[in-house]
Amino acid sequence: MVSLAKRLEERLSAITEDSRFEANVLLETVFGRDYRLSAIKGGFEPKKEQLERLWQLAERRMSGEPLQYIVGEWEFYGIDLKVAPGVLIPRQDTETLVELSLELIKNIPEPKLADLCAGSGCICAAIFSKRPDAKIFAVELYPKAYEILCENISRFGGITPVCADVTDKKIAERFSGLDLLVSNPPYLNAEEMKNLQPEVQKEPETALFGGEDGLDFYRAIPNLWRGSLKDGGHIAFEIGAAQKNDVCRLLGASGYKDISFKTDAAGKDRAVYAKK
Ligand code: GLN
Repeated sequence: MVSLAKRLEERLSAITEDSRFEANVLLETVFGRDYRLSAIKGGFEPKKEQLERLWQLAERRMSGEPLQYIVGEWEFYGIDLKVAPGVLIPRQDTETLVELSLELIKNIPEPKLADLCAGSGCICAAIFSKRPDAKIFAVELYPKAYEILCENISRFGGITPVCADVTDKKIAERFSGLDLLVSNPPYLNAEEMKNLQPEVQKEPETALFGGEDGLDFYRAIPNLWRGSLKDGGHIAFEIGAAQKNDVCRLLGASGYKDISFKTDAAGKDRAVYAKK
């Protein structure tokens, strides 16, 4: 067992600095989460098919596929979510937006929210896990992502999936009386799209690319969805580290007030929020 783990780790070290962690994740994927316990007890006997599968998964990883797509599920904010090609992989950075959202609805009983560009559903699922009294609409346009979203939120009764374009005025007009609009829209600019890590290149461009300057969704959403918010309701966005000033300016231009921001665990500007 030790030598199997070691060999796998060595193989993966050619592609990742986290080879020990990634080897462990692949071992757990093939042999189950408590394979180590049985290895210690001495009852660990990998079957031939399991070993074949393990090395197949390792080869997929070697070819640059993200670990999360290979495993097929990933943990976000303590929740296991399905992930697959066609949906953005939940990032830990996004927990900043979740924490901010929870803070903004803290004193509102049965808050009504919309999660725009919901993707895997990680944000709405995380919020709902802490606020099961919330009513959340999760809006996602792309069919593959929408399918995964529906699967991930099926265990959370208060989240309603909506397959629609958040930049369509007619869609925004269908919603009213919201306490919070929350969104992690595509926000990379054209330059950043040219320099993506190999793993990120395997993620959907539609979830990453926010137009030439990366700001397309920050330009569209605040205006189009303003009428869906209650007076005193909030809008909260995840942003790229260099977008704070632009997004604050756009929110101001759309008539929002009390514009502020939050940094992530690494100290980078990560979320901007404002009040209607
Ligand atoms: N944080 C992601 C990245 O840098 C981008 C996510 C997004 O565009 N919403 O890869």
